[in-house]
Amino acid sequence: MAGIRLRNVKKRYGAFEVIHGVDLDIDDHEFVVFVGPSGCGKSTLLRMIAGLEVTTSGEIFIGDRNVTGMEPVDRNVSMVFQSYALYPHMTVEQNMGFALRANGMDKDEVKRRVGEAAGILHIEEFLDRKPAALSGGQRQRVAIGRAIVRHPDVFLFDEPLSNLDAELRVHMRFEIDRLHKRLDATMVYVTHDQVEAMTLADKIVVLRDGYIEQVGTPLELFDNPDNQFVAGFIGAPKMNFVPAVVEEQGEAGTRLVLPSLGSPALTMPLGDRTLERGQTVTLGIRPEHFAFEPCDGARLELVCELAEQLGDIAYLYSASQDGERLILGLRGDRSKREGDAIEAYIPAERAFLFDGDGGRIR
Ligand code: ADP
Ligand code: MG
Repeated sequence: MAGIRLRNVKKRYGAFEVIHGVDLDIDDHEFVVFVGPSGCGKSTLLRMIAGLEVTTSGEIFIGDRNVTGMEPVDRNVSMVFQSYALYPHMTVEQNMGFALRANGMDKDEVKRRVGEAAGILHIEEFLDRKPAALSGGQRQRVAIGRAIVRHPDVFLFDEPLSNLDAELRVHMRFEIDRLHKRLDATMVYVTHDQVEAMTLADKIVVLRDGYIEQVGTPLELFDNPDNQFVAGFIGAPKMNFVPAVVEEQGEAGTRLVLPSLGSPALTMPLGDRTLERGQTVTLGIRPEHFAFEPCDGARLELVCELAEQLGDIAYLYSASQDGERLILGLRGDRSKREGDAIEAYIPAERAFLFDGDGGRIR
């Protein structure tokens, strides 16, 4: 097993640069998730680690080896794709053993490794079937099995669960987590699904337009986002953002008013960052962090436009008189309906502030 280091890695297609100088350290045994919107460069970066895309400049290390110019087969990585990419005319056993046989491995050793992987993935009874006779989840297991038998230093997954239905996705997520613990392998996993990222990752890398926005544990990103993009990407439903105008900065903190919410005020302690009086910034508040009892913060009067009852929590899609829309999470009260008046509070200690460039003000 081995860690991975990326040093100022860039990728250009012709004149079009899609990865803009990425630096990243992935520790041995770590489960790292690349997350970000479609087209941000997740697959490209993963394929560069695999050697399936040429790295335009910069260096990639796996363990102590500089693999930047190496062929995929020499990097000792295994990749699992969303599309499974199984050979339809081969049985499960033949699919799983194919790469090993092609490398001239001894037949008994191939059989042993395929049996071992089949045991880990609970697919022993399907070894003689062809892919067409398997469900989507079973096919994805075979694709993962094909990666396991090679005993790679690093596993690379590109949206492996995106073709599965919701229930199976949750189940396979659990299986992949178990697999990581059992194999104690370094794994890099690409997804656009932030729930997958939050639940699987030791460390999440948030990408946007070919740049890394932030790297951290799931809870670090949730509790302490560096910028508005990460704040909005991690968490569902999304963090609410509203304009806030700076009234004054004093001993007690920075006093802000929220013009689109009826101009209530709140005072936030903000370190030593100086803001100008009258400057407009953006306040962020997660749906789950509103208060429904008076507290130190901004008082809001809203009207509920839609109440989504999820059982333990209700999401209230609400609007202010000025038409500003907010999503509030309410626990322990199922009474709210469309048209109801809602009194809510933004607790000052739960709010985030962002500047005009989306950078965090703290
Ligand atoms: P993601 O996996 O995050 O959805 P990709 O890594 O597939 O994104 O793509 C990143 C960017 O690179 C996109 O803008 C995409 O259009 C571009 N891209 C990917 N492959 C090629 C290619 N072969 N030629 C030109 N542009 C490409
Ligand atoms: Mg992709």
